[in-house]
Amino acid sequence: MFAEQIAWAKEAGVDFVIAETISWTEEAKLALKEIKDAGLIAVVNLAIPKGDKTREGHSAAEACKILEDHGADVVGLNCYRGPDMTMKLLPSIREQVSCHVAALPVPYRTNEEFPTHMYIEDPNCGCLDGNVSHIALDGLTCNRFEMAEFTKQCMDINVNFIGICCGADPHHVREMAVAMGRKPIAYKYYPDMTKHFAHGNEGSLKDNNKADEWLK
Ligand SMILES: [Zn+2]
Repeated sequence: MFAEQIAWAKEAGVDFVIAETISWTEEAKLALKEIKDAGLIAVVNLAIPKGDKTREGHSAAEACKILEDHGADVVGLNCYRGPDMTMKLLPSIREQVSCHVAALPVPYRTNEEFPTHMYIEDPNCGCLDGNVSHIALDGLTCNRFEMAEFTKQCMDINVNFIGICCGADPHHVREMAVAMGRKPIAYKYYPDMTKHFAHGNEGSLKDNNKADEWLK
């Protein structure tokens, strides 16, 4: 399956191939081998389940080191985990490998009890008892500023392939790009809060000091 897909990608002239959302080191190695055999740049990202290990029992850092040693150009994490639970594993990966490191969390507020969005409960949702994945994650969605913060944390530890996985929205991506000091095309529509009726300062409620009174 990997060989077939990579052949199509190569035929289409891709710059590199990403093998991702893989929870087994051995499966990741199979994908990596096919990418390298095709002569392409390989990005290999793992989805680490609850327990912080691959399905075989490698730590994320150990698995990434194995993949680097087998020729991966970029190794890292994608999917399953939100920003905090992804960041939990990134520093040890960065210490273990010398190649580029990738981080593409899901934009959901996963936590120690529920480290992945594959199974997570929403304490504010009374109509569903238990798992709200995948069709009722709305109340657990990170805002743009949380994703920007994650981006800055990545840059601080030299994680240099940064993105978002399942659940990404355009405003997340734009804010992350801005956090990196870039002005993407969508920056043209970046919200100018100085013009907001309540929060701004141009002819807004704040001008006549009624904001607090009106908004409470
Ligand atoms: Zn995903």
